[in-house]
Amino acid sequence: MPDKINTSNCLRVGITGGIGSGKTTVCHIFETLGIPVYDADYWAKWLITNDPEVKQAITGLFGPDAYLPDGAYNRALVAGIVFRDPEKLAALNAAVHPAVERHARTWHEAQAKQGLPYTLKEAALLVENGSYQLLDRLIVVTAPEDLRIRRVMQRDGISEAAVRARMKNQLPEAEKVEVADFVIVNDGERSLVQQVWAVHRVCVGH
Ligand code: ATP
Repeated sequence: MPDKINTSNCLRVGITGGIGSGKTTVCHIFETLGIPVYDADYWAKWLITNDPEVKQAITGLFGPDAYLPDGAYNRALVAGIVFRDPEKLAALNAAVHPAVERHARTWHEAQAKQGLPYTLKEAALLVENGSYQLLDRLIVVTAPEDLRIRRVMQRDGISEAAVRARMKNQLPEAEKVEVADFVIVNDGERSLVQQVWAVHRVCVGH
């Protein structure tokens, strides 16, 4: 009877890391072990387009042009404003993050009923916005900066300057590592599978 399972036994584990560190790659390995992954960046975009409360808050902040006539989010307009206005950026985050947190919790509760030992929440920004503190454990994926830049240039077909511009919004790796429970080093030398397995064993036996 799934309803009888104590869902509080199922840990909420965050996984983060700088751009191109390999979060998604590492998450795919956890998925092969049967651990479900909540992709916070994907769901944030989904909620911005589909959640009436979030849409109302965004329209209140940026006006009706924040959504195009077909209902699509006008990312270019909003990005242009928040790029120049840090207060608007903070207000946008304050509108979106609590909605993602609520949605992630509901998702986790549903997964926990399956009797899983833990689930993963993957997000680029978990330490920067303090939301890692709402989770039970934190995994930080690291990789040397030059390797991260090369991987993203290759993956996204963009310039080094464009990758560095994206990196600017993120904390240095060392500050993330400081608050991590587990660090997975994705330097192309150490085995990712072995490192994931070591974390998995600890989280299963918590
Ligand atoms: P982002 O923050 O941009 O979402 P990410 O941290 O999720 O990135 P990935 O998308 O997993 O990083 O990895 C970035 C790129 O590097 C991908 O193209 C991926 O296939 C490649 N990559 C990651 N890890 C390795 C590795 N150990 N060996 C070779 N390529 C790798």
